[in-house]
Amino acid sequence: MSAPRVVAVAPGSPAARAGLAVGDEVLAIDGQTPRDILEWRSLADEPDLGLDVRRGGLEIALEVPKRAGEPLGVEVHSALFDQVRTCDNHCEFCFIYQLPPGLRSSLYQKDDDYRLSFLYGNFTTLTRFTEADLERVITEGLSPLNVSIHATDPDVRAEMLRNRRGATSLRWLRALLDHGVTVHGQVVVCPGINDGAVLDDTMAGVLDRFPELASLCVVPLGLSRYNTEPRMRPHTTAEAAAVVDCVEDWQDVFRAVLDRRVAFAGDEYYLLAERPFPAADSYEGFAMHEDGVGMARTFELELLGAKPHATGTEAGFFAWADASAPEDPDTDFEPYRGARATPDQLLQVRPSRKAPVGILTSTYGARVVGPLIERLDRSDVRVIPVDNRFFGGTTSVTGLLVGEDLARVLAGEPEGHRYLLPDVCLSNGRFLDGTAPEDLPRPVEVLSTDGHALRTALGVPAPALTGAR
Ligand code: SF4
Repeated sequence: MSAPRVVAVAPGSPAARAGLAVGDEVLAIDGQTPRDILEWRSLADEPDLGLDVRRGGLEIALEVPKRAGEPLGVEVHSALFDQVRTCDNHCEFCFIYQLPPGLRSSLYQKDDDYRLSFLYGNFTTLTRFTEADLERVITEGLSPLNVSIHATDPDVRAEMLRNRRGATSLRWLRALLDHGVTVHGQVVVCPGINDGAVLDDTMAGVLDRFPELASLCVVPLGLSRYNTEPRMRPHTTAEAAAVVDCVEDWQDVFRAVLDRRVAFAGDEYYLLAERPFPAADSYEGFAMHEDGVGMARTFELELLGAKPHATGTEAGFFAWADASAPEDPDTDFEPYRGARATPDQLLQVRPSRKAPVGILTSTYGARVVGPLIERLDRSDVRVIPVDNRFFGGTTSVTGLLVGEDLARVLAGEPEGHRYLLPDVCLSNGRFLDGTAPEDLPRPVEVLSTDGHALRTALGVPAPALTGAR
C-alpha cells in the first residue's frame, strides 16, 4: 500500500486554498485510507474534508472547506494505492510473454484487476474475481467492465488460459450480468485452438448463457518474433475469412433473437481475410472502437467530414475523477492511462505547410489510409508504411510502431517534407522502445489518431470524398 502522492494541484481549487502541495502524501481523507482512485473519488466528493498529510516526514492535518461534489483539485500519482491484482493465467497467446527484453518494467505487468477494467477498459478473465469484488462492483456501480471470454467451453477456456479456474470463472460473468452490470466481451482467436467449431460453440454459448452481453469483439492473436509457443501461429487468409464468416453468420442469429448483432470481428480480420470492411452502420454505435473494431470505418467518416466528432477514447471515469497523471517513474506500475503525446509534441509543425506530406503509419494502417488518400487525388500527399521489425512477427498495427523503426524509414525520406505521425504509438510522449519523436532523424508533426485530425492537417475541404459506406 502506498499513500496517494500529490503530483499536481489545480490553482484556485479547494486543495490549493487549503495549502495542499505537490509531493504531499495523503494518508487519510476524513479518517479513511483510500485503496484506489475510486475510493479517493468517493471520499473526496464529500463537503469539508479533513486530510491527514505526510509532508517531508512530518504528519500534518489540513482542513479543506469545499462543497459536496466540488472537485478537490488534486492529481495523485497512481490509480491504485494498493497492489494491482496480477494475472495468474499463462495464456499461450499472451503478448506480454512475447515482448523483447529491456522495455520499461510496467509493460511486463500482467494485470487481471476488475478496477483497471472499469478505469481503462483492460480485459479481465475473472479467474481472480471474488464475492467481495462482485459486491464492490455492484455497490459502487463499476460498469461497464471488459471480460475476456475466448471460449465458453470450460475445458477449452481452461486450456487457453492454462489455469483450471478458467473453466469456472465465467460464473462471475453470469453474476455481473444478473446484477445489471454492462459487460463487453472479447475472444482472442488462435487458429487451430478456438476457431472453427469452437468459435461456433462460443457464439452459441454467448447466446445461450450470456445474452445480455453488450458486445463481443473477436480479434486475432498477436505474434511477435519473440513468440516461443509452438502452437501459436498466424492465421492463413482462409482461416481469417472463416472467422469473418462465422461472426457474420452469428450476427444474423443474434439479430433474429436479440435484435442486435452482439459479435463483431476486429478490423484486422478484414485485412487478414482481404475483405472490405462492413458498412459503418453495421457496427451499431462502435461500442468496441478502442479495441480495433470499426476503426477503419470511423476514420473514413471523419476524414470525409461525415462524422461531427472524432471517435476517440470514450469519456468515462476520468472525465470526473480528480484528474490523471503520467507514468510514475518511482513505481513499477503505469498508474493512469496518460496522454499519448505531450502538448509540445502535438503543436509541432516545423517544415513549411506547403511542403509535400508523408503520412507515417504501420503496414496495416497503410492499407486503411492509403485508399482514402488516393480518393483525395492529392499528388502532394503520400503514405509511408513502416514495417515493425522491433516486434516482428505479425505485428502490423500502428499502436505498436516504435522510434527505432520510424527512424530507419525516415532516414531514407527527403528533408523538408511534412511528416505526420499518429499519436497512438506514443504514451506520455514516448514510443514503446523508450525513444521520443524528438529523437527521429526528421521533424514530425504528431496528430491525434483520427480522421478529423488528418483532415485538418491536410487542409481537406468537406466534403472532399464521396462514397463513404
Ligand atoms: S490473461 Fe492476459 S495478461 Fe494474463 S496471461 Fe493471459 S493474455 Fe497474458
